Amino acid sequence: MSFIHSRNRIRGKLIDDIYAPNDLNLKVPKYKFPESEHEPRHVYQIVHDELMLDGNARQNLATFCQTWVDPEIHQLMNECIDKNMIDKDEYPQTAELESRCVHMLADLWNSPEKTDTLGCSTTGSSEAAMLGGIALKWKWRAKMKELNKPPDKPNLICGPVQICWHKFARYWDVELREIPMEKDRLIMDPEEVIKRCDQNTIGVVPTLGVTYTCQYEPVQEICLALDQLKAKKGLDIPVHVDAASGGFLAPFCDPGMEWDFRLDRVKSINASGHKFGLSPLGVGWIIWRDKQELPEDLIFWVNYLGGNMPTFALNFSRPGGQIIAQYYNFLRLGKEGYRKIHQACYHTAQYLGDKLSQIGPFTVIYNGRGGIPGLLWTLKDPKNSNFSLYDLSEKLRSRGWQVPAYSMPAHREDLVVMRALIRHGVSRDLADLLLSDITRSLEYFKQNPVQSPLQEKDAACFNHAPKV
Ligand SMILES: *Cc1c(COP(=O)(O)O)cnc(C)c1O
Repeated sequence: MSFIHSRNRIRGKLIDDIYAPNDLNLKVPKYKFPESEHEPRHVYQIVHDELMLDGNARQNLATFCQTWVDPEIHQLMNECIDKNMIDKDEYPQTAELESRCVHMLADLWNSPEKTDTLGCSTTGSSEAAMLGGIALKWKWRAKMKELNKPPDKPNLICGPVQICWHKFARYWDVELREIPMEKDRLIMDPEEVIKRCDQNTIGVVPTLGVTYTCQYEPVQEICLALDQLKAKKGLDIPVHVDAASGGFLAPFCDPGMEWDFRLDRVKSINASGHKFGLSPLGVGWIIWRDKQELPEDLIFWVNYLGGNMPTFALNFSRPGGQIIAQYYNFLRLGKEGYRKIHQACYHTAQYLGDKLSQIGPFTVIYNGRGGIPGLLWTLKDPKNSNFSLYDLSEKLRSRGWQVPAYSMPAHREDLVVMRALIRHGVSRDLADLLLSDITRSLEYFKQNPVQSPLQEKDAACFNHAPKV
């Protein structure tokens, strides 16, 4: 009899509906470490279901990061789940593919033949920015030593930057000279850069695709102004380009624009593979123009992995799949494929921008021309509007769209904007659906004026802007 019993128990386990009495019928521990084990199938369902409450990534127009990838990338990521990119001796082909990506990027960013380009993958542009910033600081320190001057007050000049540069400045004790916005000038210009340069300036960081506005900062004009500064005053200040987005856009869609290693003054460039590089989350890149730009004492040589391997990174263990996926994308798409995908996004962003400027109360500040495929708009008359952009953002959220509303940084805190990024997978049809939800929301606010429009402090704010 006991035989039949146990057979029935097993049978029950195998054919029970997953939501019928079992683990899923009880509360699972949430903040205390669980005492006992549970069925994988049940736990999977619990975790899977809880994640339904996250926003739908495809409708998240706040993020610059990729939310759609080829099925082949899913497959490669799965196959690479056990590969640690730091174990270059154990996984030499993964290391080889990383090295090929570095060479391809150096080529894409027009590294001159004669230079000894150097680079590596990172977890994203933030880590790449740290590495680029440290290299600038070390180079500057060595220069000060040669001049017999105290290397104790380094500064870095930038426009309105992504938070990673605030982190760099704070973590590595560098003064950030961030050029504030002024009236309609929402990005850096050469004049403002030059005003702030002195012998303690470790570098200037223009952004190719400013987080707040999507616009490109004028890298070439800034380099030119720095060349003149050198001729006049002898100050020789290097440039690092934060091309988190633009590094994977400009080479394909705006190849004539000079922002990269074609300009002698550009010493290093970072970009996010997981943004317009079209790879899954967790990969960025930094490339130095020449070996001399990366001080040797920043490179660690490790022998305990087998072989004697150079590393320059903040992390040690890190997944290799994203790098493999990046290589896949380079091969799969080539310049032609990247251009086609991004061009389609630009057209959709421009289409939306043009439509938004027609349908009513908005002024479109950026319409997808001269920067990242995305758009930025504000209310024509916020004081006399019966809703705020924060209200609109919340209203759109009820349909699953995540479109951030936020105020600009210094000195344009008065300007509240809404931004939508158009990425791989945001089709024209999806854009039209968003547009009709915006129109519907406006109609709703007309019928139901908001008594006290939401302000930034009360809004569920999901912009990436540092408030410092
Ligand atoms: C996204 C972004 C970063 C940070 O990049 P991550 O890849 O998210 O670490 C830095 N700078 C700019 C301009 C960005 O757009």
